[in-house]
Amino acid sequence: MVDLGGKTVVITGGARGLGAAAARAVVDGGGRVLITDVLEAEGAETADRLGGAARFLRHDVTSEADWQAALDHAMAVFGRIDGLVNNAGIAAGRLLEEESVEHFREVVETNLVGVFIGIKTAVPLMRAAGGGSIVNISSAAGLTGLALTAGYGASKWGVRGLSKIGAVELAEAGIRVNSVHPGMTLTPMTAPVGIQAGAGNFPGAPLGRVGVPEEIAAAVAFLLSDASAYVTGAELAVDGGWTAGPTVRHLTGQ
Ligand code: NAD
Repeated sequence: MVDLGGKTVVITGGARGLGAAAARAVVDGGGRVLITDVLEAEGAETADRLGGAARFLRHDVTSEADWQAALDHAMAVFGRIDGLVNNAGIAAGRLLEEESVEHFREVVETNLVGVFIGIKTAVPLMRAAGGGSIVNISSAAGLTGLALTAGYGASKWGVRGLSKIGAVELAEAGIRVNSVHPGMTLTPMTAPVGIQAGAGNFPGAPLGRVGVPEEIAAAVAFLLSDASAYVTGAELAVDGGWTAGPTVRHLTGQ
């Protein structure tokens, strides 16, 4: 378990899925967390389950005013913000030719513009506190050209690039910025795909299975913690090797 004692973290889209698992990892590591989401009932329940070290606030990441209110709330409750996890996101599998301009814009607005506003709003607070760690949840779709992800993939490549720009520009303020690239992971987002846990259920990844939220959360916790003090501008694939290269099992029969 990673030591997050004394740290306070804001996690967007934390009502369920990867964000909720990351919130659990922060609390288990001894930190405190503000979960934000547009899903009010689920967000409040998730925070309740985590006990006194967790709070919830409704927050739409596409809104500048909501961002200011969320971070003001975190400052009022915790007195400081050491970590920000830009996790909120939306996905839909559509062929590029079938993607509408309207939907492409909507996905980019949430997945990329939302991350930009979050970084921009958090930086003055972290700068004043002497530093911090920003973890942006991109995707395997931000490392490769994954079919059926036109708007989503473009937004996740954008998150990867924005993370590098942030790492370079904000190092002087003591702020580290890294991206995490989950592979296929069992959450409400991927439920419609019909994936199942267990060995052999995802042959596309060299490890042969899909991930579980706790495996992504462990990477997030590492990047939030001082154990990663010399890590910034990194892109951490947590994908069972999915983006490392094609498997050739279908050729060799092994
Ligand atoms: P999820 O749908 O279970 O959770 C995403 C959360 O984001 C939801 O609670 C949702 O309400 C919230 N959200 C959506 N739009 C929002 C907005 N405008 N403002 C605030 N909150 C909003 O999905 P998940 O699988 O837990 O995904 C979390 C992140 O991980 C996303 O950025 C996703 O793209 C990324 N990711 C997931 C996978 C996977 O296989 N599950 C793989 C790669 C990347």
